[in-house]
Amino acid sequence: MRLTRYHLLLGAALVAGVLIAGLFTDATRWVLLGLLCVLASSCAALGVSVPRWRMFGQSLCRVRTAEKAVALTFDDGPDPETTPALLALLAKRGVRATFFCVGSRVARFPALALRLVSEGHQVENHSFDHRRLTNLLSTARLRADLARAQRAIGAVTGQAPRLFRPPMCLTNPRVFRVAAELGLQITACSARGWDRRPDPPESIAWRLLRRLEPGAVFLLHDGGVPARRLLPAVDLLLDGLQASGYRCLRLDELAASANPHLKSADPRDSLRPSHDSNGTDFRGRSADA
Ligand SMILES: [Zn+2]
Repeated sequence: MRLTRYHLLLGAALVAGVLIAGLFTDATRWVLLGLLCVLASSCAALGVSVPRWRMFGQSLCRVRTAEKAVALTFDDGPDPETTPALLALLAKRGVRATFFCVGSRVARFPALALRLVSEGHQVENHSFDHRRLTNLLSTARLRADLARAQRAIGAVTGQAPRLFRPPMCLTNPRVFRVAAELGLQITACSARGWDRRPDPPESIAWRLLRRLEPGAVFLLHDGGVPARRLLPAVDLLLDGLQASGYRCLRLDELAASANPHLKSADPRDSLRPSHDSNGTDFRGRSADA
């Protein structure tokens, strides 16, 4: 088993608890033990929603590179209204992106999912049902959901995903364990557009552009966000990237560009998990939480 910060947190809390129990008596002991429990629980709870803390394992949040390149990622599709309009815009701007698709939607709109691949985009796993509380599922149900999404996406696109973005980017030890079993690397982002909020396109683009840096992974949605809001935001974002001298790559291309020695005929190989004896480490040393 690979040691994570979660294990270190539990170990530190245990040691602190033993010390408190030995050094203090009566009410003081219980007050301090209570505070310790609250502190440790709060740290673990924040680790669930903040992937860059690496509380339970390595999430790919940003690719460590000096190249002025970023990855645009779109979640929750494919969507029959927004996705085709987005694809037209991306084609017009000559941009290839990474789509974290919901397995059930791929099964419902297979032609759209196939179009993503045929137009050069990367399609990855965003669960089958996209339950809001996916991270609360048991290990068995989580495994079944992710595997079902793998099958649904692979059956349509011909390529089994290698990345998994948990719904809401929420993780826990079970999510990491199941992803590793299925050969999937947990992927989050370095900046979110928060495009589900009814904000003007300028605000959505600005939230991403203010976090612009080499290797950034930007998160937007083609599912659940109307095209009339998403497209102007993407257009402004692409203008901003172009003005700053940045180009957009698929996530696998971005990782491969950061690791030239990993380049192969299939850039997706740069994202292939290389399980060590612990089964949880990934070859993508470019992965930066
Ligand atoms: Zn989602």
